Amino acid sequence: MSRIQVEGAVKRFGPVAAVDGINLDIADGEFLVLLGPSGCGKSTLLRSIAGLAPLTEGRILLDGTDITHTPARDRDLAMVFQSYALYPHLPVARNIGFPLRARRWPKARVRARVAEVARILDLEELLDRRPRELSGGQRQRVALGRALVRSPGAFLMDEPLSNLDAKLRTATRSEITQLHQRLGSTFVYVTHDQVEAMTMAGRIALLDNGHLEQVGTPSQVYDEPASTFVAGFLGAPAMNLLPTRIVSRDGTLYATARDVEVALGIAADVPPADIVLGIRPEHLRVHSGPGPLRGTVRLVENLGNEEVAQCVVGDARVCVRGPRPLGLAAGDTVNLSTTPDHVHLFSRATGRRLL
Ligand code: ATP
Repeated sequence: MSRIQVEGAVKRFGPVAAVDGINLDIADGEFLVLLGPSGCGKSTLLRSIAGLAPLTEGRILLDGTDITHTPARDRDLAMVFQSYALYPHLPVARNIGFPLRARRWPKARVRARVAEVARILDLEELLDRRPRELSGGQRQRVALGRALVRSPGAFLMDEPLSNLDAKLRTATRSEITQLHQRLGSTFVYVTHDQVEAMTMAGRIALLDNGHLEQVGTPSQVYDEPASTFVAGFLGAPAMNLLPTRIVSRDGTLYATARDVEVALGIAADVPPADIVLGIRPEHLRVHSGPGPLRGTVRLVENLGNEEVAQCVVGDARVCVRGPRPLGLAAGDTVNLSTTPDHVHLFSRATGRRLL
């Protein structure tokens, strides 16, 4: 059992609040990804859970027990670092077995457990090699092995794939997902890569500036972003965010900007307000005839199976993504539309989701 509860966590470094009042309940066996831009506080939060960065305020509970002041080595948690942190002078077998020897396990038991872990991670052929004789991916598997060897209640991983090239990153990504499925342990995984988060997470916790912006399944955070920050962070290219004003007439919403008025097809009776209209690039359709949004194509990018067209509508930049060919070229006039269920409305004042 390894449920991790973070309650009112604050971590300050001098005047900087790296973690600024976070509450998070991570269920036993969950794969939770801490996602956010550089400097948002995700590593600090993970290190606080690990016991490597003591909290300034708040508590951390492991299975209901307060571990806020428990030394790192006495927490039933294993940390995997981006830098692997292997001992260069020790062969793989001794690197993996290190945490057990430190706990004074008998030699035979260490050997048996290292062999078991090596089998799980497909490292059996490499046990006698030193870290410098391994590829980046193999080193990361050894680092995973060293975390796995103690059968910890939870794994804490800080950007474990960021030193690998793109191909190896994809392969190791699925290895870690499968490892989680096999072990059923709690995984807390830090990344700034939205693809890793979307593909690996059971739930994503999105951080900005020390705050939690949204926690939810990958579908929830992608389909119903709680704020313009979340909407703009997830998706490539990001969601189009268009400042506009909504008015409600006869129970139907219209978006207005300058002299253009677009019926949103959404039934709601709300007072007129300054809003931000959000539409994902893949939810815009190119019309052959006149469409509600009329603009000019600036650039068309070929992604292989898809194309992205960067357009200007009024004074806003709008991205359209769709199967290749979109049938557009730079300089074309373009007419775009979407459907009401693909329209997101955010408050312009707070950035929070309205509809
Ligand atoms: P990255 O993806 O770049 O690693 P991050 O989201 O993990 O970023 P943190 O490393 O947690 O962010 O840093 C959060 C903030 O706290 C940053 O402003 C950082 O400069 C600051 N910070 C982190 N560690 C320390 C430290 N030991 N001393 C002072 N400031 C720190």
